[in-house]
Amino acid sequence: MDERINLLGCGLPSLARLTEGVIGQPFRLRQLHHALYQRGVRRFAEMTDLPLALRSDLEAGYRLDLPAMPRLQRSHDGTRKALLRLNDGREVEAVDIPDEERRTFCLSSQAGCALACRFCVTGYWGAGRDLSAAEIVGQAFALREGITPEHDGSPADAAIPWERINIVLMGMGEPLLNIEAVHEALEVLSTQIGWRRMTLSTAGVVPGIERMLEWEERPNLAVSLHAPDDERRSQIMPINRRYPLGPLLEVLRSYPTSRRSALTFEYTLIRGFNDSTADARETARLIRGLRAKVNLIPINPDPVLGAEMRPPDWQVVKAFQAALVQAGVSCSIRRPKGDDIAAACGQLRAADRAARGFPQPVSLGAPTGA
Ligand code: SAH
Repeated sequence: MDERINLLGCGLPSLARLTEGVIGQPFRLRQLHHALYQRGVRRFAEMTDLPLALRSDLEAGYRLDLPAMPRLQRSHDGTRKALLRLNDGREVEAVDIPDEERRTFCLSSQAGCALACRFCVTGYWGAGRDLSAAEIVGQAFALREGITPEHDGSPADAAIPWERINIVLMGMGEPLLNIEAVHEALEVLSTQIGWRRMTLSTAGVVPGIERMLEWEERPNLAVSLHAPDDERRSQIMPINRRYPLGPLLEVLRSYPTSRRSALTFEYTLIRGFNDSTADARETARLIRGLRAKVNLIPINPDPVLGAEMRPPDWQVVKAFQAALVQAGVSCSIRRPKGDDIAAACGQLRAADRAARGFPQPVSLGAPTGA
């Protein structure tokens, strides 16, 4: 096994920490960073601005590798889902979703998730460790370069141009529970992709959003809402008991937005639970005054989620959208992509995990009707 430490995907904080005692001067770190992300160099030997002795020290103790990709699945709609194996054997999934000429890379921030949202398969399988910045960035590099299990690790000619790539942190995990690594990963990715083309999705970790307010630059923010009142939100998102809607909406009022970067509220529609036009109107009232749009996601069912986790009929989805629009909220419907390869929202899991299950069976109560 290669014991050398991987540096590809590291930002300055990780580079400094991992090369302590090898690289002394900060300007050498910046040279390394520049070589990796501005020049796209993948071999220490090619970093000719570094002294020869340093290059061979780096060669001896470090590597510049993409994560291993034991599996790459392709959906009939062009979506690709990669299973990536990390250095300690943990696995995460990352998805490449095509949208005409553009692609959206959906990256994971943790190798599992502790939040146990009742509609999400990642939550069903349970918590996993935080990913490092390099492991988050590595997912984007691997998807972009089309790395396959047979690939030799050299930069591919057929790489997707960065200009065509959007990034969403909407894969496995809660990004704001791994905020340092996520911030560093976004900084690294911002050498290639503008902040406006990156989106972080959170289940509503209020202190994490407060920390983001102190960042010099921020990605777009998406917030998983899924119900317009605390009672129902707590039923399907245990985190709502810790950070209920009041404090969540309050911190969102200070999140800087512009016309081009409004907040997004994700709203997973569950049949008979949160899908009535009255719920749509209540949602509009809740977010009034925010520069925000709503993204409706008819739930992607999965056997482990139970029979109650089913999407509404299409006309119910359309009626919910119409009610929001009528209340002055702009609203789109997210079509499932890659659902034939379990790559759609809420379907990501690590192949090597044993089921944890949910701590208690969820009952959504009597259907409210639509
Ligand atoms: N933890 C973060 C990042 C995950 S993003 C968050 O909660 O925002 C994944 C998005 O897909 C979230 O909006 C999530 O609520 C939604 N989602 C999860 N499971 C889903 C399912 N089964 N069907 C549709 N959307 C789902």
